[in-house]
Amino acid sequence: MKTLLMKGKPVADAYREIISAKIAAARAKGVKVTLAIIVVGDDPASHVYKDRLVKLVESLGGEAKVLELPETATQDEVIAMIKRLNHNRYVTGILPMMPMPKHIDGDAVGAAITMSKDVDCLNPKSVGEVFLGRSRWAPCTPRACMATLAHYGIELKGKNVVVVGRSNVVGKPVALLLLQEHATVTVCHSRTKDLAGILKTADVIVAAVGVPAFIKPEMVKKGVVIVDVGINAVEGGLVGDVDPAACAKAGAFTPVPGGIGVVSNMMVMDMLSRNL
Ligand code: NAP
Repeated sequence: MKTLLMKGKPVADAYREIISAKIAAARAKGVKVTLAIIVVGDDPASHVYKDRLVKLVESLGGEAKVLELPETATQDEVIAMIKRLNHNRYVTGILPMMPMPKHIDGDAVGAAITMSKDVDCLNPKSVGEVFLGRSRWAPCTPRACMATLAHYGIELKGKNVVVVGRSNVVGKPVALLLLQEHATVTVCHSRTKDLAGILKTADVIVAAVGVPAFIKPEMVKKGVVIVDVGINAVEGGLVGDVDPAACAKAGAFTPVPGGIGVVSNMMVMDMLSRNL
């Protein structure tokens, strides 16, 4: 059996072409595309992510406006900043880096972002749009899963898809997007009984658990399609939620690194350019 390696780069490259053309056309009309990135505190992962996004948006012909606040910033200060950006006509998208410091409620921060600039579906109204089947509002990582499956021609209609993980950022929204594509979706989590038995029924698995090599070969059927969202730092680098031996049984799978993560970042840019 030939296994299809569903790398993220070709997916991201296809989007890159479309997005950079849209941004160039907007610039020709004097319209600037600017992503405002808010970073509160010193969380190293947030700074790495911010730097990546700055490079990416600039490489597409857009601009980044990085706004940094100290760890001691209050929730009111962060929300006041967002409200100013909501009204700034030169700002196209707003992305606060999460998680916020403990004393700040990330949900309240997300809810302050006006919907038209909410590039990662942090406003509950954007979430509501996704619930109603309007996927253009969905968060970037679930959209990356769907874009990857579409790019590699994976049919979803009528397929049994098992999502492992029910977080608000990945598991729940990806389940809704899959449902919209007419898949039969089962969502599993830490209290699921007989996870292995359920996974064995899956034609497609979306793993968003956050546990290295959690899904083992004996849990999956031969030829399954695996979308591995997990990014876990271990000694020697990054690994996904799916054991490589399980991927070896798959008909198609996304690698970690080099899979969904690459596409997710491009989805931020896709959202940024959606109104152009
Ligand atoms: P999260 O909020 O920690 O959610 C993890 C989910 O996994 C929860 O729903 C949890 O169940 C479930 N889970 C944990 N242990 C389990 C077990 N033993 N059996 C079954 N389910 C279990 O994580 P997340 O934010 O969704 O992220 C998941 C992974 O994706 C992480 O590795 C993260 O780094 C990665 N990620 C990648 C991207 C990307 O762009 N590629 C973006 C975001 C996240 P309960 O709800 O019952 O606790």
